[in-house]
Amino acid sequence: MILVEEKNKTREIIKEWKSKGYSIGFIPTMGYLHRGHLSLMEKARRENDKLVVSIFVNPIQFGPNEDYDKYPRDMAGDIEMCKSVNVDLIFAPSVSDMYKTSNQVYVDVEKLGDVLCGAKREGHFRGVSTVVAKLFNIISPDKAYFGEKDYQQLVIIKKMVDDLDFDLEIIPCAIVREEDGLAISSRNSYLSREERKAALILAESLSRARQAMIGGERDVSIIKNIITNELSQEPLAVIDYVELVDAIELRPVARVSERILVAVAVFIGKTRLIDNFIFEA
Ligand code: AMP
Repeated sequence: MILVEEKNKTREIIKEWKSKGYSIGFIPTMGYLHRGHLSLMEKARRENDKLVVSIFVNPIQFGPNEDYDKYPRDMAGDIEMCKSVNVDLIFAPSVSDMYKTSNQVYVDVEKLGDVLCGAKREGHFRGVSTVVAKLFNIISPDKAYFGEKDYQQLVIIKKMVDDLDFDLEIIPCAIVREEDGLAISSRNSYLSREERKAALILAESLSRARQAMIGGERDVSIIKNIITNELSQEPLAVIDYVELVDAIELRPVARVSERILVAVAVFIGKTRLIDNFIFEA
């Protein structure tokens, strides 16, 4: 496994691999790797000759009052985790190398980027799509893997790839959860013991909604109420949003039909957590 910090050196290695005909799988991450990332890495390991993981806490996707400075970092732990699944190359650039040219060009996926988390975190998805576009240009992967944990991000990146004709395939990967149901996230490390318990309310409220939908409930306002009521039971939880949208265009729906994304964002103390599930009617 090689750890490379410079994008030019990474490009050279990729060029050599390409000349040998190797297929390249790629997983962009912000590090502090956990079992969620690991599941993407294992899948990508099986499907490609070479596996590249990037570790980069991307400043331009954080708002001014967000957690860029205190976002958890653990390069030594990340290296061990990458070794355990035989990653070939970790690309871990510095901010100054990534944004050497003081960016004036940004990728903005309209509409899809304006709803759900995009409506709450201004400029977030513009930062995400821009860095992912840059990473795709540096790594030139054949396949790139994204978790459904960040479902909106996945849809936005797919749209960027289609609209800008990137020559690669986006592979969605299922949400990995802790045994008690909490979706695994690097940000879970912010939670105190009490908050960690309270955080279960996200998965529990979604599970209630899913049960109602399996039972035949199709009225979106009733389903939203089920989730909101459940979340309100938890004193440490403050709702950021509860939304049901169609899973392709992310547009609001009044009734459940076809593929629906049920998504929540909730503050537990100061930590903002997200969770979702897809329902096929
Ligand atoms: P991050 O490091 O949080 O930017 O995540 C990097 C990638 O891992 C993104 O595609 C995430 O959606 C994915 N990911 C993070 N947590 C999970 C999880 N619990 N299950 C599945 N994928 C995840």
